Amino acid sequence: MLKPETIALMPKVELHCHLDGSLSLTCIKQLANNIGKDLNMSDEEILKHAQVPETTQSLLEYLERFDFVLPLLQSYVNLELAAYDVARQAAEDNVKYMEIRFAPGQHLEKNLSLEEAVEAVIAGAARAEEDFDIVVNILLCGLRQVPVERLKKLLPLFDEIDDEHLVGFDLAGDEVNYPQVKFKKLLEKVTSRGVQVTLHAGECPGCAQNIIDSVEMGATRIGHGIMTKDIPEYQEILTKLGIVLEMAPSSNFQTKAIRELSEYPFMALYKRGIHVTINTDNRTVSNTNLQKEYEKIANWYDFQISDFERINHYAIDGAFISEDEKELLHQRFSEEYAKIEKG
Ligand SMILES: [Zn+2]
Repeated sequence: MLKPETIALMPKVELHCHLDGSLSLTCIKQLANNIGKDLNMSDEEILKHAQVPETTQSLLEYLERFDFVLPLLQSYVNLELAAYDVARQAAEDNVKYMEIRFAPGQHLEKNLSLEEAVEAVIAGAARAEEDFDIVVNILLCGLRQVPVERLKKLLPLFDEIDDEHLVGFDLAGDEVNYPQVKFKKLLEKVTSRGVQVTLHAGECPGCAQNIIDSVEMGATRIGHGIMTKDIPEYQEILTKLGIVLEMAPSSNFQTKAIRELSEYPFMALYKRGIHVTINTDNRTVSNTNLQKEYEKIANWYDFQISDFERINHYAIDGAFISEDEKELLHQRFSEEYAKIEKG
């Protein structure tokens, strides 16, 4: 099995990471301090609120953990800090390119506008790019349980905010009660603006249809897509179209998408040629980082350096960046992985 030190050396791409689910303990305390809020808790207690317990039974229960940090993320300064903090952690994982996603509509309780919320996160990402060897882009998330009329307000942001960091759109949240087809018109408006789309889909039992609906609605990437595991026709479509699956091992077990390792389809999908990638989803909620997720995959499947290289090339292909930027990343990764192979 690959050594953790070898995994640490590997340059990585992370496509699926939520801002509010990925704040470090230090950052959470700083955010509280900034708004004069006394959390009145030990570090252990803070983490207990922010992390998912072993006993979580469903995706909906998993999603409840986000309620703890959201009140701290209602100012420009704190959103900027949060984005910087997540990018800093990714840089420690040797991530060279990442996309951070967040739902601007969740950060308006203290009079921020949607635009200001997005600008704050972009500013944090840009500051991290200056301090670390990483490129950080931003995706806007719509939460499915929010009325579509409100989600529509996210769309003009792609025109109003003229910044290269803002690169794509995602739908997240409850996919059991709000299947993807309900958002067909919204997605048409997004894709007709030329905005690239990744959608959470197939993350829970009974949700497989959402995967194929997402592809039909213009998504080139799927968040998780676990439930394609038992449907060869879907796998064929994903392979043919080169759709990228953003998988997150720890999260996929915690949400109870998967209960046994034998059910986890990562390796089967990889062998089938589907473009699987490894992500944290939520560093804090899932109590993980990208290093740990890679170690899991190395452990479970005896994944080798060349396998990790391949899935990082898949991730680069799926990234919401220009062809030129992809080419540079491909070259850099090929060179760095070749060095690691040589030892
Ligand atoms: Zn997610």
